[in-house]
Amino acid sequence: ADSGAPEWLARLNEPQREAVLTTEGPVLMLAGAGTGKTAALTHRLAHLIRERKAWPSEILCVTFTNKAAREMRHRVGQLIGDAVEGMPFLGTFHSICARMLRRHAELVGLQSNYTIIDTDDQLRLLKLLIQDAGIDDKRWPARQLAGLIDGWKNRGLNPGDLDAMDNESYANGKGQQMYRTYQERMKALNACDFGDLLLHMLNIFRQHRDVLEQYQQRFKYVMVDEYQDTNAVQYLWLRLLAQERKNICVVGDDDQSIYSWRGAEVANILRFEKDFPGAKVIRLEQNYRSTPQILAAASGLIAANSQRLGKTLWTELNAGEKLRVIGVWDAPEEARRVGEEIERLEHEGAPLDEVAILVRAQYQTREFEDRFIQIGLNYRIIGGFRFYERAEIRDALAYLRVIAQPADDLGFERIYNQPKRGLGAKTLEKMYQHARRQGIPLAAAALELADSDELPARARKTIAELMAMFLRWREMSEEVTPSELLRTVLAESGYDDMLKADRSPESAGRAENLTELARAMEEYETLADFLEHVALVMDNDRADDGEKVTIMTMHAAKGLEFNHVFLPGWEEGVFPSQRSLDEGGLASLEEERRLAYVAITRARRRCTILHAANRRIYGQWTSSIPSRFIEELPEDTFNQETTMTGGASLWRANWSESEDPFAHVSRDKPDRSSARGPGWQRALASGYETKQVRVKESTRSAASFAAKPRGDIAVGERVFHDKFGYGEVMGMEGNKLEILFDHAGTKRVIDSFVQKAD
Ligand code: ATP
Ligand code: MG
Repeated sequence: ADSGAPEWLARLNEPQREAVLTTEGPVLMLAGAGTGKTAALTHRLAHLIRERKAWPSEILCVTFTNKAAREMRHRVGQLIGDAVEGMPFLGTFHSICARMLRRHAELVGLQSNYTIIDTDDQLRLLKLLIQDAGIDDKRWPARQLAGLIDGWKNRGLNPGDLDAMDNESYANGKGQQMYRTYQERMKALNACDFGDLLLHMLNIFRQHRDVLEQYQQRFKYVMVDEYQDTNAVQYLWLRLLAQERKNICVVGDDDQSIYSWRGAEVANILRFEKDFPGAKVIRLEQNYRSTPQILAAASGLIAANSQRLGKTLWTELNAGEKLRVIGVWDAPEEARRVGEEIERLEHEGAPLDEVAILVRAQYQTREFEDRFIQIGLNYRIIGGFRFYERAEIRDALAYLRVIAQPADDLGFERIYNQPKRGLGAKTLEKMYQHARRQGIPLAAAALELADSDELPARARKTIAELMAMFLRWREMSEEVTPSELLRTVLAESGYDDMLKADRSPESAGRAENLTELARAMEEYETLADFLEHVALVMDNDRADDGEKVTIMTMHAAKGLEFNHVFLPGWEEGVFPSQRSLDEGGLASLEEERRLAYVAITRARRRCTILHAANRRIYGQWTSSIPSRFIEELPEDTFNQETTMTGGASLWRANWSESEDPFAHVSRDKPDRSSARGPGWQRALASGYETKQVRVKESTRSAASFAAKPRGDIAVGERVFHDKFGYGEVMGMEGNKLEILFDHAGTKRVIDSFVQKAD
């Protein structure tokens, strides 16, 4: 069958090639992790362009993250060279819709410079509306309403589409009204939330046939990666776009569906064959990514799920190492252990880029960050939120947003008195009243009030000054680069001074974050471009370069692969998450198990699972129980270790004491003593000593964050480091030194860890 296939497709296997060469008509590629679905999709994209079946701008290709889109662009470039230039519609659902909506904003009552707001702003707006409506926001919190509205948008429902049950779900039948009010306010603010990007485009397609037809004509081919995680609104949107030509190719794996909490519906896979009759279904079974051990472990684990289509996977790769399951005392020890393991890998010559730590929840990353900063191990956190969600970053972005779009009330509300200008809640109330009466944005209302006698003279003067600054910044924004603009804003608004005056330990870090923000902005030519970028990455991931260990959530790791993967926190209540246990349903537990499957199958060569015997939860130490997912791994695929007593069989031994070691997990008050044998007590006792030692260490690590240099070391000096030996200081930033070590190469370390060499 490969007779007519071009040479550059020779690398692909038979079914992959079939997926590439079946360009016309609907195609559904359904296959397990690491079988080359994304690779096939990439080749298909290259093939379409190369064979002139379509121009790059005539192909719509949806990836799950921005990172995946960048990766695909890069790979296609490698296959066909510059021809890939200009693929405007390769991206996430959100980024593609944001781009389309800029062109058609007026059709849904927006202007093309609309703002994309994030969850935080959304919550503040909702809170205001809830109070306005006289609803008790203690009983009916904004967060709940936000969740409902997101859910409705994910299902493609406008306020008018809600049924009685939806409506009843908030404040005794006020759901629909609140949703409608929220949408109206968003329009008045010239703003969109994430859900709106898709919903607005779906509405436009449904109500304006001419626009839909224009896109149906334009997109000769439609392709979607990670199809199992599309939600209803995305599906409806895709179906409209592909309905005419029916050249749609989707690839996915039902075992990797992990976003049902965001409205993803695996059922879309089954629906595809109905909506696109005659779809060619292609299955891939050969895994090219992982060793047989990793594959066997993941396959064995996922077999415990009842709701799956089922599939076989095999690999030709040589046998590798078994997985390792390591029991540690607590989270700091877990981080220390992972740090040691990574240093060992580095020593063996493994590039740091090939190492990842995948966590279940965001909060788990902090312990690793602490540790890695301490030992000078470069790492990156993927998941964007963390940086852009910091208060100072949000403040800066609010200033920029108001400059770009004066109708951005939420932005204006955030900073009108930040830094403190003596404008209180009273002033805000007056501004809001005036804005509402006149039907104008908050900033415009402020400007008018500065000229009236509704406010005390002092407040008027302050507002007038603030508005004059904004006018100046607006003019400036046309002329200077975004990062220059930011620096000016921070200086003139008094924000820099506020941070300087702040004596708290965090203020230095805040200033550093703002510097980092300015650095990030340097890549952008216009403010609007940058703001759009921020809005999109906040929901997704962040580009980064240099050799670093990656720390990210399992969710964000979908589609990626690393030689070495560490999976910490495999304990009941952490993973599977407490929430999935509390909900108790089979569905939520099975989704956690799919997440475990995704996590393990990210590994090419080695996979290390860790679990701690103790966790600090809300300031209290609780003993924890190894995750049931460890128990579900086929026995011959992994080895157990514990660092506490050195007895590798400790955990196994304990488990076999009771028939079902997790039987007590969901009880109200778990009686964990029953799971403890003498070995446990020994472990507890010996672990306690470790803990005593650790107290001192964590003080040190906390101190290392106050980024003050110690003062007696200068650039050019020779120093000695316990681990890396002798070296020369090449650079300094606060308490961080960049040192060129004689043997270990360049590293960044904290200055308290080195001695002067002579
Ligand atoms: P996931 O379900 O995790 O998204 P996937 O099915 O998309 O996985 P890919 O990421 O496309 O799998 O491929 C996994 C690995 O296998 C990649 O490193 C890829 O380069 C390699 N690969 C894919 N197809 C082949 C092939 N035919 N021959 C050799 N290697 C391949
Ligand atoms: Mg993939």
